[in-house]
Amino acid sequence: MNTQPMSLPDGAKYILERYLSVGHDAYIVGGAVRNHLLGLPIYDYDITTSATPEETKELFSLDRIVDTGIRHGTVTLVLDDGQYEITTFRTDGEYLDNRHPSSICFSRSLDDDLSRRDFTVNAMCYNDAVGFVDRFSGMADIRAGLIRAVGEPAVRFSEDALRILRALRFASTLGFRIEKETAAAILEKKELLSSVSRERIFTEWRKTLEGSGSYDILTYYKVVISVISPELEGLELPQRDRFSSAEWYIRQLGLFLASSEDPVSSFGAAMRSLRADNFRIRQGASALSCLLSERLDNTVGIKTAIYHFGTDAVRDAISLGILTDRLSAENMKALDSVIDSGEPTSLSGLEIDGRGLISLGFVGEEVGRALDRLMLAVIRGECPNEREALVEYILGEALR
Ligand code: ATP
Ligand code: MG
Repeated sequence: MNTQPMSLPDGAKYILERYLSVGHDAYIVGGAVRNHLLGLPIYDYDITTSATPEETKELFSLDRIVDTGIRHGTVTLVLDDGQYEITTFRTDGEYLDNRHPSSICFSRSLDDDLSRRDFTVNAMCYNDAVGFVDRFSGMADIRAGLIRAVGEPAVRFSEDALRILRALRFASTLGFRIEKETAAAILEKKELLSSVSRERIFTEWRKTLEGSGSYDILTYYKVVISVISPELEGLELPQRDRFSSAEWYIRQLGLFLASSEDPVSSFGAAMRSLRADNFRIRQGASALSCLLSERLDNTVGIKTAIYHFGTDAVRDAISLGILTDRLSAENMKALDSVIDSGEPTSLSGLEIDGRGLISLGFVGEEVGRALDRLMLAVIRGECPNEREALVEYILGEALR
C-alpha cells in the first residue's frame, strides 16, 4: 500500500491551501485517496470542507465556480488544470425512499462527513498539513482487500439501496471481497434495489461487469443479479478464464447465452428494462442471433454470416463463441483473412445489381431473390464474381 504523501495537482493544492489559510478545514476525500493508497490512477480529486457553499463562493469569487449540486452542498470549481467538486461537510437526514435523504445538514465536523460515506475504503481523506485521516480503518481494509460498510451495514443499505450495487462494483473493480456482515446485509436488503432508478442500476452493473473480479462477484451474488434483472434468474457463468479475458459487453452477452433458453429475447427485455441505449441492444441481439444461426467455424460460413449480419456482429459473435467454448481464436483469424481478402460479402460487391437483373427480365420480388441466390453462389464458390458468369448462372437457375 502506498502511504507516501499524495502529490496533488496544482489546482487541488491551491484550493486546500486557500481554505486552510483562512481557518477552514479542507481535504481530498474518497476515490482519490483510495486510489492513491492502492497505487491506481486518479481521475478526479473531490474535496470536502467545513466551509459552507456560500463561504466557498466568497473565498473563490475570482475563480469560475458552478453550482452543480448546491442542494447537497456541492459546487464545482473550474481551474486551469481541471474541475474540482467541493462538498461541505454534512450529515444526511432521514432517508424516506431507500435512496434519497429527506434533508441534509451542513456540519463543521469532519467525522460527521466521513460517517455518512459508504465504505471504509471510500471514507478516508487527506491534506498535506494533517496527512491521511482514516477513522474507520479503511487502510486495514485495503490491506485485507475488503469492502466494508461504514457503520451498521443493514442500516446503510436501507438508507440508500444503490450502495448494494456500489459494494459489488468496488469489489469487482478492485478485486476485493465483501466483508462478512456487509455481505450478509446485501443479501438481506437486496429487494430494496427495486427502488433504485434503472439508469443508475445499469451504470453500476456495467462497471461491475468491467471489473477484474466480476467472475467471483457474479458467482457469489447471483441472487442480487436476479433482483436487478429477472431474466438472469438461475444465472450460469461461462468458463472462468475465458470470461475474464473477454470485454464487458461480450461477458454480458455470455451471461444471457449461458443462462437463458431464449437469449436473444431475454437479453433484449433485460436491456430495455435497464434503459440501455438502442444501438447497443441491437448490436448485442445481432451478435447473439448470428452465433446461434450461422456456422462460424469455416470460411464460407463466416462470409455468409457477414452477408447476413455485417462484420461487426460477426466479430462479436465469434468473441462470444470463444467465450462460451464453441469457437476458437482460429475462427477469429479466419474472419480477419476474409476481411483482408476483399472478397465480396455484400450485395454492393457483386458484379451485377438489381438494374442488371431487371434488364434480363426479372421483376418485383424476383430481383431481390435472384441477388440473394447470386450472392450465396459467389460466397460458396459455385459461381465466379464476373458479370457474364453471374448472368449465365442466374438464367440457368431460372430455367431449372
Ligand atoms: P469512482 O469515481 O472511481 O467511481 P469514487 O469513490 O470517487 O469512485 P464517487 O461515486 O465519485 O465514487 O463518489 C465520491 C465519494 O462520495 C465516495 O468515495 C464516497 O465517499 C461518497 N459516496 C458516493 N456515493 C455514495 C453513496 N451512495 N452513499 C454514501 N457515500 C457515497
Ligand atoms: Mg469519483
